[in-house]
Amino acid sequence: TKIEASNFIEAEINKDIENNVYANGRVLTRFPPEPNGYLHIGHVKSICLNFGIGLKYHGATNIRFDDTNPSKENVEYVNSILNDVKWLGFQWKEPVHYASDYFPQLYEFACKLIRKGLAYVDDQTSEEIRKNRGDLEHPGIDSPYRNRSVEENMKLFEEMKAGKYPDGSKVLRAKIDMKSPNIVMRDPVIYRILRATHHRTGDTWCIYPLYDFAHPLSDALEGITHSICTVEFEERRPLYNWCLDNAFDGKEKPRQIEFARLNVTTMITSKRKLRRMVEEHVVSGWDDPRMPTISGLRRRGYTPESLRNFCDMIGVAKANSTVDVGMLEYCIREDLKDKAPRIMTVVDPIKVVLTNYPEDKTEYMTLENNPSDPAAGTREVPFGRNLFIEREDFMEHPVKKFFRMTPGKEVRLKGAYIVKCDEVIKDEQGEIKEIHCTVDFSSRSGTPGADRKVKGTLHWVAEKTAVDVECRLYDYLIPKDDVDDGRDFMEKINKNSLVVKHGKSEPAILNYKAGDRFQFLRKGYFILDPDTTEGKPVANLIVGLRDSWAK
Ligand code: ATP
Ligand code: MG
Ligand code: MG
Repeated sequence: TKIEASNFIEAEINKDIENNVYANGRVLTRFPPEPNGYLHIGHVKSICLNFGIGLKYHGATNIRFDDTNPSKENVEYVNSILNDVKWLGFQWKEPVHYASDYFPQLYEFACKLIRKGLAYVDDQTSEEIRKNRGDLEHPGIDSPYRNRSVEENMKLFEEMKAGKYPDGSKVLRAKIDMKSPNIVMRDPVIYRILRATHHRTGDTWCIYPLYDFAHPLSDALEGITHSICTVEFEERRPLYNWCLDNAFDGKEKPRQIEFARLNVTTMITSKRKLRRMVEEHVVSGWDDPRMPTISGLRRRGYTPESLRNFCDMIGVAKANSTVDVGMLEYCIREDLKDKAPRIMTVVDPIKVVLTNYPEDKTEYMTLENNPSDPAAGTREVPFGRNLFIEREDFMEHPVKKFFRMTPGKEVRLKGAYIVKCDEVIKDEQGEIKEIHCTVDFSSRSGTPGADRKVKGTLHWVAEKTAVDVECRLYDYLIPKDDVDDGRDFMEKINKNSLVVKHGKSEPAILNYKAGDRFQFLRKGYFILDPDTTEGKPVANLIVGLRDSWAK
């Protein structure tokens, strides 16, 4: 039964299946991160694509750490990457692979190229190699070492491996074509000397293969069928195939297919830049809730479902483009709409006194836990004489169309009474201390008198039972309308991207633990941060309530 392709990559896979390129139409993809940082939203796209294809074609997906660059890699990154992939809901085919597992085989492949006269040891400095490679207008110039004999090359390469030469003094190059119009094919370096302790192989090796050589051959050794990568690798595809054709004897060779990188407005998708932000303490760490890393998005409150839906929605393209962050926000709102219970929290409190309400009385108001999900039931919320409302819900001198609390006017307190604002009490500095209101006792919600129409409905929290909650309100790190103006990205970072408010919440918040999500009524979706301790909730704003991204 034919599987319907939903993008151009799947269409290519279908062709390979029709043409019997791989035995029994098998499909094996891989996700090949370099363990030199935490995964970000761009990697989510690659993960969803690779694992999605593995699942759809009843095949599988390997995870392979592309760990050929020991100076930047470590186990902390390996563990975070495995954790992130699992959290997104995907399962790789065991075992976990590492390019470093193949160092012995890769060495043998290199020897094979030497024996075939297809690789040579070059003593030029990296500067000379770069210069002599030429450019689009100028063909490359052959290295003076290009015509070393097979015997000499074998001896020198073995000596490189044995540690006879200092770092950077020699490299192994593929002997392809110094005049190729594709600069990648002008005798690329495939091995270098580097004394750095590798996080898995320790000091066993002092020569390391380069990505362009290690990648195709690692794919081949694992029996990968479709090696999906981002478009900047398109010009390297001839080299990918050259390595397979000249070093690998297996019948079934992997096929590289490129797709567009994902870019999202306001989000930086370069591990190098993200690392700078961590190291220069612009954020609290890789998992700062403002970070576009998977660990940051998770702490911020994004769900795996919302990230997977986002990737489905944007689809797979060949041409790079930038997606509006609003689309990601739309996906998390959609996911939480029905799942997240509502509670009342006043993020920026101002005190209200109901002057005709008895001092020692507490009533319980019945509120719905989730208007989008009747099955979520109701809860009893304590109400009393002293309350908090949101500072921005009051205006002493209202502008036009301000239908919230204002002197002389009535508003409804959600699920409770209609109250009328009588008086504003200020301190000596003229700051508002409290607002005095009177209750219309006949207007209690759920009673016949509640029918009376008033324009605004406000959320509120009773002072007596209020729980202090630290609210962390986030804004974008990079402005939405950012354009490349040549400035370093660090200069563009929004210094006010975190605002902390000391809010007041109804007691129900104490029923939740770190990692639980809910909606603060009228304010937005929040998640309890791991910084939460017993009785002291810390809530991260996931996203505000606006429910359409197409604006
Ligand atoms: P960075 O530039 O952030 O360091 P990278 O490509 O060097 O990213 P890798 O760890 O090598 O990071 O990436 C693992 C896989 O994820 C690769 O197949 C890569 O093509 C893919 N990937 C990385 N960034 C993106 C992105 N923005 N969109 C789609 N795929 C991506
Ligand atoms: Mg990479
Ligand atoms: Mg990179």
